[in-house]
Amino acid sequence: MGEARDSTLSGKVLEFNPIVNGVDFLDSAISNLADSQDPRNLKYAVLHLQAAIEILVKVRLQREGIKHVFDDPYSVDLNKFRQGDFRSVSLSAALKRLDRVAGIQLADKERGALNFLSKERNKLQHFGSTSNHEVVATRAAAALDVLSQFIQRHLTPDAPEQEVAHLDRAEGLIRGALTSIAAVSWARLTRIGPELDAWSGIVIHCPDCLQMAWTFLPHEGSSRCHFCGRDWSQEDQLATAVEYVENVLGESRHVAVKDGGGLPIATCPECEFAALVMVATRNDPNTYLTAACFYCGFSTNKRLGSCGRCGTPTLDPDDGICPNCLNDLVARD
Ligand SMILES: [Zn+2]
Ligand SMILES: [Zn+2]
Ligand SMILES: [Zn+2]
Repeated sequence: MGEARDSTLSGKVLEFNPIVNGVDFLDSAISNLADSQDPRNLKYAVLHLQAAIEILVKVRLQREGIKHVFDDPYSVDLNKFRQGDFRSVSLSAALKRLDRVAGIQLADKERGALNFLSKERNKLQHFGSTSNHEVVATRAAAALDVLSQFIQRHLTPDAPEQEVAHLDRAEGLIRGALTSIAAVSWARLTRIGPELDAWSGIVIHCPDCLQMAWTFLPHEGSSRCHFCGRDWSQEDQLATAVEYVENVLGESRHVAVKDGGGLPIATCPECEFAALVMVATRNDPNTYLTAACFYCGFSTNKRLGSCGRCGTPTLDPDDGICPNCLNDLVARD
């Protein structure tokens, strides 16, 4: 698609406002992908996703200077630019320019996903696709995931004022797709798998999106959900423990209070904050046998002991009394 005035647009573009166009195409691509059992919807999902990617990549390129989005940077004409009446750079050339002028590089896998979509778009546009329906839907979802990463990493940071609301809308649309379209969530889980495998600590459920994708390390910047992107290092740690218990374990604070019990949050034997919760992990997803402290990050899958006097967990399963109670008793003597 070398033309700024895109052939898939219906009617004439009166004003060249790429960010609005790009997010509109994204919106349409996602709704079509949601109903992609119908081959016609899948076709428009691919066509419109391709348009969204091309436009949004150029939106980023344009921030480096208008000339970069012209196919021929020497033929820059501001009037033509305003009217969208110029030959714009191709997607592959735009990506090369982004690398050169802004140091933005896509990984091989990401480029692969975008190339597949481009080829499929060409087939659809000219011949109608002969590709396997499931494969196309899966690969479209992978390309959407690449776009989502691109928006998060390269468009949202330092976005000009007039783009912020549109980018927020784009991120909201993608969040919706992640929870409502199986192929989209599958594409994301496939992409983050290696990141989660490489994590040396525990990976637990995200209390927000409920995916097992939170690289757990309270207080550290890397303590975030790789599925929905929520940065848990920025949250109040004790409130997060409660959120985990309520959302992941399904324990209601109200019921717990009514029954006269408390939430299953114990005192951590390391930091002594009430933030120790039994969690499931990526290595052991079906049982909740790992104790994790949402305050200091201590975690163990070894059996803990319990203080016979106050009930607080102890590090040694054979310990009958916790250090606090011991101090207390010693002080009384
Ligand atoms: Zn999440
Ligand atoms: Zn702790
Ligand atoms: Zn005790």
